[in-house]
Amino acid sequence: MPQRVAVSDGANKKTSRVRVAVRLRPFMGNQDENDEGPCVKGLDSQNLEIINWRNATETVKYHFDAFHGEQTTQQEVFLSVKPILPHILNGQNACVFAYGPTGAGKTHTMMGSSDQPGVIPRAVREVCKLVKAKDDNEGWDYSIGMSYLEIYNEKVLDLLSPSSLDLPIREDKDKNILIPGLTHTTISCFSDFDKQFVPASLNRTTASTKLNQRSSRSHAVLLIKVVRTQRALPHRQQTGKLYLIDLAGSEDNRRTGNQGIRLKESGAINLSLFTLNKVVDSLNSGTAVRVPYRDSKLTRMLQDSLGGSAHSVMITNIAPEYKHYFDTFSALNFASKSKLIVNKPFTCETVAVPVLPVKRAKEDHEAGGSGE
Ligand code: ADP
Ligand code: MG
Repeated sequence: MPQRVAVSDGANKKTSRVRVAVRLRPFMGNQDENDEGPCVKGLDSQNLEIINWRNATETVKYHFDAFHGEQTTQQEVFLSVKPILPHILNGQNACVFAYGPTGAGKTHTMMGSSDQPGVIPRAVREVCKLVKAKDDNEGWDYSIGMSYLEIYNEKVLDLLSPSSLDLPIREDKDKNILIPGLTHTTISCFSDFDKQFVPASLNRTTASTKLNQRSSRSHAVLLIKVVRTQRALPHRQQTGKLYLIDLAGSEDNRRTGNQGIRLKESGAINLSLFTLNKVVDSLNSGTAVRVPYRDSKLTRMLQDSLGGSAHSVMITNIAPEYKHYFDTFSALNFASKSKLIVNKPFTCETVAVPVLPVKRAKEDHEAGGSGE
């Protein structure tokens, strides 16, 4: 029998911080209903600014570990994730999640498309490559496996076995989190992964159009597990887990007038995202007495992979159009606790007068008013 080795060795407490990156998607004219131009823009590789709705003569500046502007390629975003991947071959855990309102680019970032693959296919390819490149002389055998699940209304549903019911989340004596009954398939190369993942993702998308865009209200969680076993005695075994997560939309569904089942869904989503917010906050402020992992399914599942000795990256996706303004503002406030109000007008090529309805603004302009 292989001897179990506790996954978390608490080697480096500093890694418990969640690295926070922001990605701004390109401006889309068809989303700019009032012809107002963008309300947010990047300043450099770590800073961005957004107009202050309380006072249009001010901007609010935010600072992040990384800022990815509109021109950023999928490969560049992947490069911010790549350095954490070797750790899962050494029995450590990692977690990458895309946060932000619906329409801001989470699925584009995580899944991408066939001509612009996102973080998920690139990371899986890289893990397969790293395992293949392992030197046989080190004396370990490696195996890679995958699971794919959805958390919807605080229920854990197996996407590789779509008829399954809500699955329990458990903790073993070494404090590893497990989901008994969850399908776990071995993959030996990228195409094995693709064969499972693509149909399961399509299932999810089909269901979403039938069920009020369910996909924007559920968390899609891909788990890649690397198990390595020592060939010689005592056959030590280590398991590293990588979670790649496309989170539910962070928009406040109460504002969009959801009722009945949608309101129930919003409540559940708010619970998971609200708890995630608290967990990330306590990890990043470093003052946590108790990190509230147990308060939601999502954070309970991530308990051994977010904080501690795990490596975590949060990519906050935002959109530049005014129609997303309040969702962008709250996503930025979640992602960054440090902001600076700067007393200078928001500078952008298209003139924006956000406090006035556009018609008034145009009339003012025609009447010779500057709108300031
Ligand atoms: P979300 O998953 O957050 O709801 P999506 O990923 O579906 O958002 O993105 C919404 C739309 O914007 C999609 O049509 C997507 O292809 C497009 N999009 C998002 N981010 C980018 C980007 N960085 N570059 C080009 N198109 C993007
Ligand atoms: Mg999406």
